[in-house]
Amino acid sequence: MDAGRLESWLEENAEPKYRAAQIRQAVFKDHVSSYDEIPTLPLALRKRLSRELPILSVSPDRIEISRDGRARKAVLRLSDGRLIETVLLKPSPTRLTTCISSQVGCAIRCSFCATGLMGLTRSLSAEEIADQVLFWRQHIAREGIQGFLTNVVYMGMGEPFNAYNAVAESLRRLTDQRQFAMAARRISVSTSGVAPKIARFGQEFPQINLALSLHAAEDGLRESLVPLNKAYPLKVLAQALRGYLQETNRKIFLEYVMLHGRNDSLQNAKELVQFAKSCGPLPLLHVNLIAYNEAVPGQVATAEPDIRRFQAALLKEGLAVTVRQNLGRDIHGACGQLLVGEMKTPRNVAAPAGRGAGAGS
Ligand code: SF4
Repeated sequence: MDAGRLESWLEENAEPKYRAAQIRQAVFKDHVSSYDEIPTLPLALRKRLSRELPILSVSPDRIEISRDGRARKAVLRLSDGRLIETVLLKPSPTRLTTCISSQVGCAIRCSFCATGLMGLTRSLSAEEIADQVLFWRQHIAREGIQGFLTNVVYMGMGEPFNAYNAVAESLRRLTDQRQFAMAARRISVSTSGVAPKIARFGQEFPQINLALSLHAAEDGLRESLVPLNKAYPLKVLAQALRGYLQETNRKIFLEYVMLHGRNDSLQNAKELVQFAKSCGPLPLLHVNLIAYNEAVPGQVATAEPDIRRFQAALLKEGLAVTVRQNLGRDIHGACGQLLVGEMKTPRNVAAPAGRGAGAGS
């Protein structure tokens, strides 16, 4: 749902101005799935809108639910036939979080990540990014799921800062009071370290949370896990994060996936502390330790006691550390597991009319 395009369409078709408000209310507040659920619209208008301006730019290919019921993964089909994945998580009985994608695949190719295996096909448009949230809101309303979708994390498929313009526009839509009306502080964008975009992001979205997928704090090791480190090594990243902290005075989240024998030694913990200290005051940095989810052959998860030992070493040095809950492992919907195995890229299907492909890398 592109609210700007809707308004232009209504104007071009000589519809009264109040129609836009009626439709926005129904779509963004009542979460209707179809124009037929808006009885205040004349029947002929409902039919034309359904044909010419579908509410969603994505459609569900399939939805999987985890055994504990706390995670759902949707494979969504885009208008050009390509597929992406998005996840809905229930970390508490009242709170729902969605993890959304910004690209079809990803060019960064982190060695432990299933999405990285796909390579990059294209970036998503702002509408395709924001529509993942709208899709889940409709799903929650239809299925009568308890809880409210309060949090959005850009940690699905893709590197958000390699689709910067589309991601920025989607953030404006999510926080627009006339559209999604979400609280900026409940939205997080995670980057693998596109340093030049970190400063811009801090200036443009100082209220939105920034997470850095760090995973190692020594250049050689980080390069082997996150190849982007060659372009933006740790020194450059630390400088970008210092600038961000000066600009926003907001906490930065350092994401750290725990891989047995790769990045989980006490020496690695020491390096992480040093890196954090080089970025700014420790109270403004928060480390999230993530138990590795099976995604790529040859990578093994750190055992729980070793994660706790690593956590203790960081805590001792004054860093705030959380071991993240892992929801949705059994449906391959947890961190690093998103992979659309049966990518369909029909050559005879044109790019969607009127929709940009976003600002890809
Ligand atoms: S971890 Fe993120 S940045 Fe790295 S390959 Fe996967 S999706 Fe891309």
